[in-house]
This record gives sequence, C-alpha cells and structure tokens, in this order.
Amino acid sequence: DVDLPESHPRYESLLTRHRIEAGVDRGITSRQGLIAQGRGEAFDYLLGERTIDSADDAERAAAAHLLSADHAVVSVNGNAAALVPGELVELAEVTGADLEVNLFNRTEERIEAIAEYLREHGATDVKGLTADGRIPGLDHERAKVDADGIGAADVVLVPLEDGDRAEALGEMGKTELVIDLNPRSRSAEVATVPIIDNIIRAIPNITEHARDLRGDPDAQQDAIDTFDADSALTAAERTIREGDLE
Ligand code: ATP
Ligand code: MG
Repeated sequence: DVDLPESHPRYESLLTRHRIEAGVDRGITSRQGLIAQGRGEAFDYLLGERTIDSADDAERAAAAHLLSADHAVVSVNGNAAALVPGELVELAEVTGADLEVNLFNRTEERIEAIAEYLREHGATDVKGLTADGRIPGLDHERAKVDADGIGAADVVLVPLEDGDRAEALGEMGKTELVIDLNPRSRSAEVATVPIIDNIIRAIPNITEHARDLRGDPDAQQDAIDTFDADSALTAAERTIREGDLE
C-alpha cells in the first residue's frame, strides 16, 4: 500500500488521492473520476475536512431512510468503490440495502471490476450487471439500471452522482440520499437528503447511526421528520463562505 506517516497534516487527503489513483490503475475508477476527486477535495478543504453538524444530521436521516425503506439500494460508482469498498459492504449489511454498481461512463469491464472488488471486500450479491431497467428521460447508456435493483427501489443512496441522473431518479419518485461535497451541485440540490461531507467520513457515520437506530421505528421517524434539506445546504454553504460557525 502507501507509505505515509499518519502524523502528516494532510494524511487523510493524501490517502484519498492514493486510493483514487490505485482505482484508476485497477480499472475501477474512470479518468473523469480523478477530476471529480479534485473538485471534491477543494470543497472538503473549505469545510475544514470534517463532518459539520448539519452533515451529521443528514447522515442520521439517511440511516433512518435506509432502515425504514421497503427496498433500499446503495449505488456504487468508481470513486465510491475505490475510496470505501469495505465500508459500503458494511453499510449494506447493517441496513439490509442492496449494492448496485451504477456508472456514469458505463463499460461492462468496469462494472465487473467494481463488482469483483466489492466481493473481495465481503459483498455476496452485487447488482448492476443485468441492466434490464431504465431511468426515464436519460439517453440509453446513462439510463441503465437493474429492474430489481435501483429500478424497484423506494430509497437510493447515490454518492457523487451526476446532476442529470440525480434529477431523473428524483422524478421517478424515489427518496434520494446524495453524498456530495459541493452544496451547489445539482445532485445535492435535488436530493431528499443532501449529505455535504466526504464519502470517506459519511459512509461509516451513516452505518454508525444505522446501528443506533436499528429496531427503533419511532427514532427513525424522528430523524426523518426533523431533517431539513434546505437548512442543511445553507449551513454547508455558510461554513464554506465564512469558516467555522458551528
Ligand atoms: P453537476 O452540477 O451537473 O452535478 P458536477 O461538477 O457536480 O456537476 P459531478 O460529476 O456530479 O459534476 O461531480 C462529482 C461531485 O462529487 C462533485 O460535486 C464533487 O464535489 C463531489 N465529490 C468528489 N469527491 C468526493 C468525495 N470524496 N466525497 C464527497 N463528494 C465528492
Ligand atoms: Mg454533481
């Protein structure tokens, strides 16, 4: 792996970069994914590379939605797989959600490589290879999903999703949980629950909230009802513009 002293002030950020590079080398992350990582990193720097309180609330609400769903799916793209493979498998296990590989720049090789990488990290069933469902309103390749996966889901967690697809999924009536460091990204703006946090911190924290909320429908409903998407977006943007206000 990589030889970085944990005491390095930007340890996490360097580790993240290294994982994305390794993802490209393994054929699971696209070259576009490298650029997306750079955009994310800039926002993370401005947020102080930490989970702000409003993001923690969003992560709790997301956990509650996943647990109370009829059919929840965690969507996995090349960046998500490179950064948090084991953590995604664990989240799916704790919440009972399906894992589905879902790529903006879709190739069969990359889908298979990501599915295999998730299996190496303990996943038993990975969706995304059937691709017999379509998201209405998108061109052919971008529209593909599994009919019994994202196609049938009432709740989807989409990390780092493209704006058009996030919008189209929302129009299908799905509850969308979006992880995106940019509070002005269209994906964040159309989300039922926008999570303005680094996926590296967000996924384990959603899992921790899910462990806490599991078996308690009243607490789940409360986390869902008390979360306000507009306030969360505003709080994140204010933190970026004005620094540490929380
Ligand atoms: P649009 O407004 O159409 O959505 P975009 O610039 O957001 O355009 P995307 O491909 O959706 O294009 O960009 C990926 C998003 O993922 C960016 O908003 C970026 O900030 C975010 N991102 C990148 N890396 C991470 C990460 N590690 N954790 C969370 N979000 C990330
Ligand atoms: Mg976006």
